[in-house]
Amino acid sequence: MAQVFSWREAPVADFAVIGDPVHHSRSPQMHAAAYSAHGLSYRYVPIHVLPGEVGPALHHLQQLGYQGVNVTVPHKEEALDWCTGEVDRFALAVRAANTLRLSTRDATNTDAPGFRDTLRDHLGTHGGEGRRCLVLGAGGSARALITALHQDGWQIRLYNRTRSRAEEIARTVPVEVVDEANPEGCDLILNTTSASLGGETLPILWDLASTGALAYDLAYGDSLPFLEGAKARGLATLDGLDLLVAQGARSFEWWLGFAPDLSAMAGAIR
Ligand code: NDP
Repeated sequence: MAQVFSWREAPVADFAVIGDPVHHSRSPQMHAAAYSAHGLSYRYVPIHVLPGEVGPALHHLQQLGYQGVNVTVPHKEEALDWCTGEVDRFALAVRAANTLRLSTRDATNTDAPGFRDTLRDHLGTHGGEGRRCLVLGAGGSARALITALHQDGWQIRLYNRTRSRAEEIARTVPVEVVDEANPEGCDLILNTTSASLGGETLPILWDLASTGALAYDLAYGDSLPFLEGAKARGLATLDGLDLLVAQGARSFEWWLGFAPDLSAMAGAIR
């Protein structure tokens, strides 16, 4: 694990991931592997930023000369608010940015295209015509991925601990907000909550899941409760490492103008 810095004590570096928490992030070693594969001497560090401090933290990193920042839980909306430069339409629509260029305050969202890459790899296609999914969570990542799923034709059932946040999403994307996490009839069960980060279990009715469904947790790490529940039901599972690589590669390319060595990035985090 890379050393985590608080933003006020950020070292001189080129790129960073900011979050709360951020110690779990494998982005630093993944980007370091890509720099080394391409003979680049950039430094990428994890920086802890508390909610409400994202603007001052980004300003500080900009002053220190950082080129780019990845944004993780729960700062994707606050980070977007700081960006006054070019912000792509998708990031604006879903109010979540995970990739920023500090000098110009530009932003994009690489979670959604990276997510599509992983669905193509694991389901054969990201197209969702005639397919159903149960999405858990209604945070920044959920907003982006639900919009992508809807654009690709999926029918979406949405469960969130705080129902009002799910209803907020339902105002802009046609989803069915439900009070029970019932995966019956779903081809994909997608956990976008950060519950796994704290080792917490979600109230999913696993017994009702179709045995051919894919259970996909955006989180990664050892024994994620969500994936353990899915495995006990005999489902195929996928953690967030493939997405980490896919979105990270797209961030790398957005900053530096060329596609990185994917196998070097994947090899560094597995
Ligand atoms: P947000 O903070 O924006 O949203 C968090 C969501 O999790 C909310 O819906 C919240 O519910 C829910 N939640 C948190 N704790 C619990 C709990 N104990 N029980 C039930 N629900 C809970 O986070 P993000 O959307 O930015 O990120 C979510 C997760 O996705 C993180 O684990 C993050 O690391 C991961 N992620 C991984 C990526 C990758 O590359 N692999 C890319 C993007 C995200 P409520 O509204 O009730 O508070």
